[in-house]
This record gives sequence, C-alpha cells and structure tokens, in this order.
Amino acid sequence: MTASTGATMAPSLADLLADSKNTVFFGGAGVSTESGIPDFRSETGLYSAKEQYGYPPEVLLSIQMLEHDPALFFKYYTENLIDLTAKPNPAHLALAELEKQGKMAAVITQNIDGLHQMAGSQNVIELHGSNWRPYCVGLNCDERYTLDYLLDKSHWVDGVPTCEKCGSMVRPDVVLYGEMLDDDAMYSAAKAISEADLLIVAGTSLAVYPAAGLVSNFSGRNLVLINKTPTALDNHADLVIREPVGEVFAQALGSVES
Ligand code: ZN
Repeated sequence: MTASTGATMAPSLADLLADSKNTVFFGGAGVSTESGIPDFRSETGLYSAKEQYGYPPEVLLSIQMLEHDPALFFKYYTENLIDLTAKPNPAHLALAELEKQGKMAAVITQNIDGLHQMAGSQNVIELHGSNWRPYCVGLNCDERYTLDYLLDKSHWVDGVPTCEKCGSMVRPDVVLYGEMLDDDAMYSAAKAISEADLLIVAGTSLAVYPAAGLVSNFSGRNLVLINKTPTALDNHADLVIREPVGEVFAQALGSVES
C-alpha cells in the first residue's frame, strides 16, 4: 500500500457534504461546550451538583423534584442550565450557512440552549425542548412567557417563578427526567434521519436516550461521527473525527465553498 495513490484515503467531511443531496446533523452536549456551556452530565457537572445541591443532576432535573421541591429545582436549573451570555460557535454558524446553501436538511439537537436558532438555522428539531419558551402549568391557562420573565425574581414566590395571570408555576419547556419526549419532535427526527443520505452525529457518545435509537433509523450512504471520545457506533461509521466540532465544521465549510 502506497500513500501516493490516495485510493485508500477516507473521504473528507467536505467531500461528503459536497456529494450529499440530503444531509442531517444530530448533535449532543459536545456541540454547546465550545460555546462555554458545560455538560451537566460530565464528571465536573455531576460532582458540583452533589456537592452544592445534594443530589445528582438526574434527580435535580426530574419531574419529581419540580413537583416536590420546586424551589430547589429552580435554584439548580437557573444557576446551571441557563447562560444568557453564550454565543453560537463555528459549528452552529457553519450549520446555519450550510442550510442557507441548501446543503443541510435538518438539525436535530439534544441541547436546550437555542444556539442553533441564534446562529440562523431554521429547521431545528429540539428533542429535549428549549429554555426560551417557559409556560404556565395552570389548568386552562397555558400562558407563554419569555426566559427573562422566568429569571426575573420579582415574579418568584417562595423560590418559584409564577404566572402573573393565574399565580401557577411557570416552568421551562424542557423534557425533565421522568417525562416523556415530545412525540412530534421524535417523529420529525426519525423521519429526517431515515430520509438522509449523509448523517453527521456530533458531540454525543450516543449513550443518552434517545440518541442511539434515533440514529438506528439511518439507512443512507454515509455516517460521520465527530466526538472527542469513542462512541458505540464508531465501527459503523464511514468517517470518525476526534477534533472539536467547531473546528471541524469551520474547516469543512471552507473547503466546500472554495
Ligand atoms: Zn397561568
């Protein structure tokens, strides 16, 4: 085998993007860490949750916690899952640009930070909901609020944000532990993946539900995995990249355009 023929070289992400008619991106927490948003499931995240709040994140962010100790839920949630200063990183920006060029059919994300929309992506499927559209849980109310409203402590009663119309709790529209994922989002994600000829999975080890199950809907030509650590599907991928997601996309986009 000689290095000069190039016949055995793996395709580059830019090549695959250029050849694809229907690319779908599936991203996890690792896509947002480059925007400075820490992964609460990381070792540091787990440790600080137990040290400072007395429970692991799966307990703090559960529907049971919201129902039985909402003040602790909102303390942890507002102190750890919301970062108003976070900005889209080169991965978010490249994905939005690729969509504009007609080369990105859908972005599926497990993140709740809204950074894909902030970058300009239109077709974003949010599997775990979003920080940006809190709502009142009051029966027959359903009032929608802004994130600013939820964070404004003048609306808080006993440590819990409340609705100015009916006085009920205002909660984030995110899927908590112990809650079902949204059927529409799951259906849209499965459909997008099943129709894709190129699927790029990034920033997830595919260990968190429902990532691995959704990816199994893929029957297209090329699967690309971008993650710092090995994933369950590395053996099935046509291209495995261990570099930071932002750098990988900035580079690929440059090559596709030139
Ligand atoms: Zn209300």
